[in-house]
Amino acid sequence: MAVSLYQRETLIKQLQTNKKWDVIIIGGGATGLGIALDSVTRGYKTLLLEQIDFAKGTSSRSTKLVHGGVRYLAQGNIDLVREALYERGLMLKNASHLVSNQSFIIPNYNLWDRLKYTVGLKLYDFLAGKLSFGKSVGISKKKTTLRLTTIKPDKLKGGVVYHDGQFDDSRLAINIAQTSIEKGATILNYCKVTGLLKDDEGIVNGVIAHDIETDKSYKLNGRVVINATGVFTDEVLQMDDNKAKNIVRPSQGIHLVLEKSFLPGNDAIMIPKTDDGRVLFLVPWHDKVVVGTTDTLLDSHSLEPKPLEKEVDFIIDTANRYLNKKVSKKDVLSIFAGLRPLAAPKDNSEKTKEISRSHKIIVSSSELITITGGKWTTYRRMAQDTVNKAISLGKLPNETCKTKDQLIHGALENVDRSNHLYIYGTDQVHIEQLIKNEPELGEKLHPKLSFTKAEVVWAVRNEMARTIEDVLARRVRMLFLDARAAISSAPLVAEILAKELGKDKVWERQQIDDFTTTAKQYVL
Ligand SMILES: Cc1cc2nc3c(=O)[nH]c(=O)nc-3n(C[C@H](O)[C@H](O)[C@H](O)COP(=O)(O)OP(=O)(O)OC[C@H]3O[C@@H](n4cnc5c(N)ncnc54)[C@H](O)[C@@H]3O)c2cc1C
Repeated sequence: MAVSLYQRETLIKQLQTNKKWDVIIIGGGATGLGIALDSVTRGYKTLLLEQIDFAKGTSSRSTKLVHGGVRYLAQGNIDLVREALYERGLMLKNASHLVSNQSFIIPNYNLWDRLKYTVGLKLYDFLAGKLSFGKSVGISKKKTTLRLTTIKPDKLKGGVVYHDGQFDDSRLAINIAQTSIEKGATILNYCKVTGLLKDDEGIVNGVIAHDIETDKSYKLNGRVVINATGVFTDEVLQMDDNKAKNIVRPSQGIHLVLEKSFLPGNDAIMIPKTDDGRVLFLVPWHDKVVVGTTDTLLDSHSLEPKPLEKEVDFIIDTANRYLNKKVSKKDVLSIFAGLRPLAAPKDNSEKTKEISRSHKIIVSSSELITITGGKWTTYRRMAQDTVNKAISLGKLPNETCKTKDQLIHGALENVDRSNHLYIYGTDQVHIEQLIKNEPELGEKLHPKLSFTKAEVVWAVRNEMARTIEDVLARRVRMLFLDARAAISSAPLVAEILAKELGKDKVWERQQIDDFTTTAKQYVL
């Protein structure tokens, strides 16, 4: 394995030596990384710049579903659902180590609901066509309570079972970055775009990038510049035109993570209509349960959005209406918030759930291409549409999209999920080899969780991790699974990182302080 491929020094050298890029992408979330993979596999010289870490933004904070969106079906948005179901099928095929088939049960409390969901989900199955994840079926009250042992039985009439996908969002982001690098792209984290370059006609022809680690700035030329910055979209649009109007409004969604004992079986629960008309999911994830989400329009955005008290109360109250194992704040292992970049409503009365969730591509008069909206599930299609747009503008030679059958780094048939290292797919054997060579690396980072020291070493050497947070939030998901455990593992992770990256004790101390400050926000 060519380890040096992912080393920062190698990637920075490519940045310094390459004189002109075909495509420069700003933003290393699902959208930007998808575009990088699409672009490089079509043969374009591709550069992606992420200001912090891959998936630091919304792309590590999703509900972890690869789905068509049952809710959009209820809204009659058939095309959006069909497109997402197709992409769901491709994701399972191309990133088989990270995506799994998850059964969901919708509990029914009256016969009308039962009929409605049975028929609606038959349509969902039909729209998936050959890429179906399994047929939906109605089940009796007895079967529902046997499968969902913590569901309240009172007034329950039965359930409807359907299938969707479930995944690890930030690990997919890292694996897409690796795949893009293997195909020849330059993909850098900790490199922020601070300005755009333009030619005499005012056409964008490059970016100014700032390497956060060395404090060096670079002027980089490119034929096409793509703004894929999620809730930061408007900041880049304002680099282009300081009078540009805001096109994005952040809508916050939070999730709570609980012990698996709150939902012990293999099934997830989908509550299709909460008190305020939203959907609530309780989904098994890495031996815990993720419960969410909310949808709260905000006026400002940040890289570490803060859950609101009313959002926490809403999730706990709703969960307690359905579960007979009472959830209280002290049961919350981790709490995380993410921001949807919704199209800014023209009118303040517009409700977030009614604003379109499909993606939009906007071309500025400077030919800066901006892509916004969509969802993780459709990242590949969003990338295809964006690169096609650059071709249709005559900015790139015509090449067809190649990602439909492109395997993502780590993809493996027949995944054995009995060992937590399965998530690394084809890399699992390399991590096991590290432990064989140095048995101490097999030690756990924290007694409550399976993650090992070897995974930290692996994350630095092969997955471009630079900080404790990169490791504990987005390479192993400890911060999202148990924030207190993550805080107490920080010194050990800092020590391993310092050794791998050649850093001193001052750096280690600063890393622990920085991580602890951030991680405290994940503790309720
Ligand atoms: C609560 C919630 C739950 C969701 N659940 C699901 C789900 O279950 N399934 C699903 O399919 N979708 C889900 N989504 C949607 C999905 O998560 C998003 O559509 C997707 O992650 C958006 O990715 P992105 O790349 O556009 O944005 P982001 O992930 O936010 O990435 C943008 C990146 O741009 C970087 N950036 C910003 N400015 C600069 C700059 N100047 N220079 C360099 N980099 C910069 C940021 O640091 C950031 O990393 C959910 C969304 C939310 C909010």
